[in-house]
Amino acid sequence: MTAVIDSGLDSPARFGAAAGLTCRECDATYDLGADHVCADCFGPLEIAYSFGAVSRASIEAGPQTMWRYADLLPVRPLVDLQVGMTRLVRADNLARALGMRRLWVKDDSGNPTHSFKDRVVAVAASAARTLGFEVLACASTGNLAGAVAAAAAKGGMRSVVLIPADLEPAKVTMAAVYGGTLVAVEGSYDDVNRLCSELVGELPWAFVNTNVRPFYAEGSKTVGYEIAEQLGWRLPDQVVCPVASGSLLTKVDKAWREMSQLGLVEGSPYRVFGAQSDGCAPVATAFAAGWDVVRPVRPSGIAKSLAIGNPADGPYALDAVRRTGGAIAAVSDAEAIDGMRLLAHTEGIFAETAGGVVVATLRRLLAGGVLDPDAETVLLNTGDGLKTLDAIADVARPTTTIAASYDAFVAAGLAG
Ligand SMILES: *Cc1c(COP(=O)(O)O)cnc(C)c1O
Ligand SMILES: [Zn+2]
Repeated sequence: MTAVIDSGLDSPARFGAAAGLTCRECDATYDLGADHVCADCFGPLEIAYSFGAVSRASIEAGPQTMWRYADLLPVRPLVDLQVGMTRLVRADNLARALGMRRLWVKDDSGNPTHSFKDRVVAVAASAARTLGFEVLACASTGNLAGAVAAAAAKGGMRSVVLIPADLEPAKVTMAAVYGGTLVAVEGSYDDVNRLCSELVGELPWAFVNTNVRPFYAEGSKTVGYEIAEQLGWRLPDQVVCPVASGSLLTKVDKAWREMSQLGLVEGSPYRVFGAQSDGCAPVATAFAAGWDVVRPVRPSGIAKSLAIGNPADGPYALDAVRRTGGAIAAVSDAEAIDGMRLLAHTEGIFAETAGGVVVATLRRLLAGGVLDPDAETVLLNTGDGLKTLDAIADVARPTTTIAASYDAFVAAGLAG
């Protein structure tokens, strides 16, 4: 699909450091545009760069948002909700509980729509504007819906968001409140995604995770850049990432490789770990079985934001994990809920179910001796617990309910 309106910007500036699109499978190259599939082999396209001068100082002089890394991204910030530079929390209490030494939580619940999806949408929406699109669309497992609707509102674009009808109520409300068209589809995320794949061929719209996916995916690199900068311009030894499509995991790895190549950090070795839930573990299953391909599954369970049964970047996530000496594991819903509670009890961080999956997977990998308890580790919390209240409501309740009197307080045993 080609652009409908020219944005009028000259092309070198328009696409930042991006030089073209390249096929991840056969290395064919293409001009920058709203394309995501190789015409030769049908492999996925990725942004190729020709980086200019970029230094720690030039980054540090930038804004306190993900756009401080604009020189490493494929667009200029045409749509800006001031995303990113979320906190990196030293998690000593959680580390102690897990028998670890140096542990950090990168907490992306602090983004404008309370998940890491604001990062990918910031780049996708800016690319859509650059390419002249007027409609920003997506298929969403939940967090993307709100991020797209909010970015479209800010960017003066129309949004059309398609979600599975059984999404968590908070995510439906969040997607609706920014205006735009919200379409609940009877089916799973993979059904919604398939519908979007049909629509993208018919409509002159920017589907953030389809035709502008090469741009979109690059937004996840900023998680990796920020972790390295916030650690004082160095890489941790280990990172644990949630895996839905697998894109975030591969882009954290890509970010750290780029920073090493550009001399922004010393190129120290690191290991990348992936976290899935038993209800949707196609990449963890492939890892355990030693497969290069990822066999699709039908998702279930509470970690709906990770419920992609046919993950587009699954094989690339496997590559990154195997190349760095990491692993991918999956945990039960009960373990994920325990993970949410442990993070809240120890660090005062209320993560959505996906964050619970990451904490529980970290625990599982430690117990199996797969992850080194003495090595510096960063775990990613990608969403806010307020989005998945239902999952935890039964076990996070008032200690007791009493009448509004001193006697009732004492009778309930609260004064001792
Ligand atoms: C989308 C999402 C992810 C993972 O995204 P992928 O890049 O598709 O693997 C992780 N956590 C949350 C909360 C998300 O919404
Ligand atoms: Zn190809």
